Amino acid sequence: MTDLRDLYQEVILDHNRKPKNYHAIEDANRKAEGYNPLCGDQITVYAKIEGDVIRDVAFEGTGCAISKASASMMTTSVQGRTIAEAERLFELFHAMVTSEGGRSTPSPELGKLAVFSGVCEFPARVKCASLAWHTLRAAVKGSHETVSTE
Ligand code: ZN
Repeated sequence: MTDLRDLYQEVILDHNRKPKNYHAIEDANRKAEGYNPLCGDQITVYAKIEGDVIRDVAFEGTGCAISKASASMMTTSVQGRTIAEAERLFELFHAMVTSEGGRSTPSPELGKLAVFSGVCEFPARVKCASLAWHTLRAAVKGSHETVSTE
């Protein structure tokens, strides 16, 4: 188990060092900002939505390794998916990182996002891990308010 956790951390650190889709989208038709005051994480999510499909999604921001890695992996996970599929992933992800009563096996639908399953053992990090997803949801809904995890 310890070895696996080391591997997971490496994936997270790697995404933190070299985040995917870390840029603004010039012709984005959705944008939202998220803020996690507990940790100081700030993120802007850009999305290009056609019909009910997320054609493109990217982010910019500053924050801890967990928030940045989570945002990076969120963008790669939802790109090309429908809004409903992205919402389902968020629900599964949220259930995984908040799992009360200890860790459970993450849903196979989460794929690589399962690397965040250890987050549930660190309650202070749950908001770091879910910030990008909350912000994506706000962007998709076209809400222009800044999302706060508080
Ligand atoms: Zn954080």
